[in-house]
This record gives sequence, structure tokens and C-alpha cells, in this order.
Amino acid sequence: MNDQPGQPLRELPALDSLLRDPSVIPLVGRHGRAAVASWARTALDAQRARLISSGLSHSRAELVSEALTAISENAVAAHLSSLRRVINATGVVLHTNLGRAPLADAAVAAVAEAARYASVELDLASGKRLYRGYQLDARWRDLSGAEAGFAVNNCAGATLLALAGLAAGKEVVVSRGELIEIGGAFRLPDIFRLSGAILCEVGTTNRTRLSDYRKALTSQTGALLLVHPSNYRQIGFVESVALADLVSLGREHGVPVIHDVGSGAMFDLAPYGLPGEPVVSESVRAGADLVLFSGDKLLGGPQCGVLVGRKVLVERLRESPMARALRVDKLTLAALQATLQIYAAGDPLRDIPALRMLVETVSAIRSRAERFRLDTALPLVPLDGFSAVGGGALPGIALPTALLRIEPTGRSADALAERMRRAPVPALGRIENDAVLLDFRTVLPGEESSLAATLRCALEGV
Ligand SMILES: *Cc1c(COP(=O)(O)O)cnc(C)c1O
Repeated sequence: MNDQPGQPLRELPALDSLLRDPSVIPLVGRHGRAAVASWARTALDAQRARLISSGLSHSRAELVSEALTAISENAVAAHLSSLRRVINATGVVLHTNLGRAPLADAAVAAVAEAARYASVELDLASGKRLYRGYQLDARWRDLSGAEAGFAVNNCAGATLLALAGLAAGKEVVVSRGELIEIGGAFRLPDIFRLSGAILCEVGTTNRTRLSDYRKALTSQTGALLLVHPSNYRQIGFVESVALADLVSLGREHGVPVIHDVGSGAMFDLAPYGLPGEPVVSESVRAGADLVLFSGDKLLGGPQCGVLVGRKVLVERLRESPMARALRVDKLTLAALQATLQIYAAGDPLRDIPALRMLVETVSAIRSRAERFRLDTALPLVPLDGFSAVGGGALPGIALPTALLRIEPTGRSADALAERMRRAPVPALGRIENDAVLLDFRTVLPGEESSLAATLRCALEGV
């Protein structure tokens, strides 16, 4: 710094010279000239303002180096804010912020295969045009026992479509105990408002009886809706109505019953320590006219929402203009088809990663963690803990797991976690008692060497 008065702005570097700097040229290649130029301009503007207000001058070299630092920090920030693969060592299997269910290998391959041109709305046998998703018709029937089914963008979309398509301008009866918020602005009353169906709440927060639904039925009733309270549990003085009873009531009055089961379990997970999730086929068997569920929760597939049920209703909804606005793309269809194929002819507990993770025994997880600890010789301490299902499924279920605690490093856990996020392959653990814990339940096979590299990178310099 020198303080010769006069022209402090004279030493400001030119924008073009910054963009031609050897350290900046690759950034222009990666992020584009417009983005890098705007970072450079912002840096220069800040320098100009500071020079004017302080009246001090700096050498050209100082200003250039400062601007280059600012540009490279912007490039790092842009890289970190792009969509990146991450290693999930949080132990939360259906981590909404990490894209919920990780796809099966076959689904990943199917996505790549279908990504260019694919027979999305074409029947290859006849050469004729067919509706989107027809490829999965038989799968939905076989898996759920329902007459028909199809997929839309997500379960919120499936709910919106069902309400709008079956009950716009009519009342839909739902228990006060089931007016749920799923998160990310899915609040049932808001979905009702969007759909044009009129929300008719019955019962109380903790107790709703069949007689409550019965009293609410009028000529204006468009449907009865039962919603699985996926992400919370009521205990104590509670009462709710069984689907079968609601179905009888609906039949009596000629009103369809919609069951939003949420997580889309295809079979009972109770034998694996995961009780309480409704099974889609049981809901169909109990007589629900429409069953709605997510594709990326316990089904273990891509983001989508599925409607299965009576053919007339499913077809009516499939052909409505709103279905067009909620339709899935070819990548989703490809992933879904491959996922359902595993249910049909494969071994879902082995080949659907979310299910495999959920049923993996603590001893299997412990041996993977222990092998990692010994192979990498990183400063890791084994300890016992619990994993969560996540994704608004199975609240309160804690699965025993084996953890590795990263040894105290002289850095705070937050600082270490940040370094892990900034590594070339970002990894997320969870923080407890100011330590970063790694839960191997959600670390995929084959990710060990990337995780080790990330930890080495995060631990560097301590
Ligand atoms: C998760 C969930 C939804 C929302 O599903 P998305 O696929 O996230 O839109 C709706 N209803 C229930 C009961 C759920 O559990």
C-alpha cells in the first residue's frame, strides 16, 4: 500500500486483463465468460468504492491478487451450489435434501438408456401412439392388485389430481387428525384449495369415529379421504377409523374412498423392525377406490406419485388436463420401470438400495464400518447409535446402527463438516456432541474410497 495522493483508481486492473489471467482462463471455460466477468466486475466495483472512500492507493499487484482471489471464491461457490453427487453418511435413508431414495443400479442404467430417444408414447409392436406410462399398466396391477394405476410428478400431485378430478366443487370428508403437513409446503388444506375440492373436516385432532364421517355425508360429498399421518404419531387417547369401515360407508353412499398411504410400501416391513407403514396392496384389498403414494420413499424409486385403483377412476384422472400438467418425464418412467421390474422378478431387499439399507443388520453395518476404519487408518472411533428412516416415513423408528466418530481434530465439528462438504466428492455425516459421526448404513457399496479421500481432504492440516 502506498498513500501517494491523487489517483488511487489508476492502479485498478482492467476487466479484460483479469479474464486473461492464466488462473482465470480455466474458470471461463467451466463457468462461462458472462459469469466470470460478472464476478470480476463485482470485485472491481468493490475495490473502486473502497479506494474512493478511503482515498488510499494500493499497488496494481495487490489489487490484481485480491480480485483474482474474489473470482476464485465465486467459482468455488458456484461449483458448490451446482447439483452434485454426495456421499450420504448421515444414516437417514430417505433424506429429502439428498433426493430421498437412491436408485437401484438397474434404474440408474435405465435412465441413461432412455435419456435420448425412447418409446415414451409409442407402442413398438403396432407403431401406434399410446398414452404415457402405458408400459407400467400391468406392473401396477400385479404389484397392487388394483385394476389400474399410473404415475404423476409426486404424491402431492397425485393428491391434487385425485381431489380435483373426483371432487372439484364438492366436499371431501377428512379427519381433523389427518390434516397433515408433509414438509416443503405440502399442507393438505392448501392442496384442497388448489384442487377446488371443499375440505370437510370431521372429528377432533385425536379422535375421529365412523359416525363423524357418516354425519358429514351429503349430496355434495365427492369423496372420503383417509391420509396416513406419515411423519408423526399420535399416542394416548386416540381413535381413528379403519379403512375397511370407511370403504363400507363409502359404498353405502356411492362415494369413492381415497387412501393417501404416503410412503408406498409394497410389502409389510414389520418383520424387519419397521412396523406401521400401510402396504399398498392391503389398502387396495380393503377396498379403497384410489390409493396414492410416493415413488421415492419406501418404494425406493424415482420421485413420482402413483395412483392405483378402480379403472374408471384412474382412466378419468389420467385423461384430465391436470394430469398433463403433472406428467412424468421419460427419465422417471425409465427408473420406475426398472424399479418395478425388481419387485416383479428380482429381490427388492437386495437390489433396491433404500430397502437394503433399511433391513441391513447392525452387525453387517458394523463390519463394513470396521473394515473401512482398518483399511483407511483414519482417526475414527467406532460407536453404537441409531439411524432414521427419514422422508417422512416411520417417525420414531430408530434403527440400531454402527457409527464411526471422527476423532477430535482441533477443528470444531461444524468446521470439519464444512470441509467435508467442500471436498471434491462431498460427504455428509451428522453432528452430535461437537463430533462428526459417520453412519455406514447409508454409505453405498463402492463409495468407500471416495469417502476416505474426502475425509483425508477434510482432515488435512490438522
Ligand atoms: C410424503 C407424503 C406425501 C407427499 O409425497 P411427495 O411425493 O413428497 O409429494 C403425501 N402424503 C403422505 C401421506 C406422505 O407421506
